[in-house]
Amino acid sequence: MLKVGDFEIHSIVNGTMRLDGGAMFGVVPKVLWQRKCDVDDLNRILLATRTLLAINRRAGKVLLTDTGTGSKWPAEEAQRYGIAPDPQAMTRALAGLGLSDADVTDVIVTHLHFDHNGGATAWADEAKSSTVLRWPGARHWMHQRHWTYAHDPTPKDRASFLRRDIEAFESPGALTLVSAGEVRAGMGKTDARRTAACDAPCQGIEWFVSNGHTRAQLLPIFHGEGGPLLFTGDVIPTAAHLPVAWVMAYDLEPLVTMEEKESIYARCRGEGLKLAFPHDPHIPGVELEANADKPIIAQTLDL
Ligand SMILES: [Zn+2]
Repeated sequence: MLKVGDFEIHSIVNGTMRLDGGAMFGVVPKVLWQRKCDVDDLNRILLATRTLLAINRRAGKVLLTDTGTGSKWPAEEAQRYGIAPDPQAMTRALAGLGLSDADVTDVIVTHLHFDHNGGATAWADEAKSSTVLRWPGARHWMHQRHWTYAHDPTPKDRASFLRRDIEAFESPGALTLVSAGEVRAGMGKTDARRTAACDAPCQGIEWFVSNGHTRAQLLPIFHGEGGPLLFTGDVIPTAAHLPVAWVMAYDLEPLVTMEEKESIYARCRGEGLKLAFPHDPHIPGVELEANADKPIIAQTLDL
């Protein structure tokens, strides 16, 4: 557990999967990335799917960021991606902290790629004809531009959006859409950030909006003593992706991802920003060397 101000933060592995190592590292040759990963005979690397659980007892908040692949998978598709969800992982983690699923107040949906938020929904019945929210009492947060994009993605990442992961969010009132980071005419960047501050589940959360991997990925930064801490989402999916040029072939705009990583590392140096990863099978998060001009791990975080 990492304490950041009023937040108690845990990284919960809710399952594992395997994706093509080449796709996960873009132009980086296998001779380099294979040293850092567990590769199988289909060239797939082992990845965790993690939920960042943040509890703020003072504010009465139990927040989940990302929910993993979920369990709505036909066997053949699950096999293709080596998907092995642990559907009770969150319930167990909450119980260990004296909480239950009914106590979850907010779910932050960073983006709707199947490996990040398939777990926010479940089949409504045995017939698998419709889906329901897994935490129906919680407020679900997503960036409005991502919600629009998810309904009309490019051919490049269309396969990452599954109809069955999206439809339950279409019910009226199911989503709280965030417009953070949108710089409108007459509004400077500072104003945009100020707008974001009141557009979040509780005080102490700032949004980092990323556009390199997909459109308007919504990533929380938790502020307070011991932090700040960024959930890096698919900007930096694992510790192996820390080098600026090590970006995924999945990214819509790899150069934008690289700029976003540079801006994150500037904050690591300037404000001691810590990083929590969504996919690293072994390392939940890190703190970087403050004085290095490239990302070097100073210590791993006990999340
Ligand atoms: Zn993604």
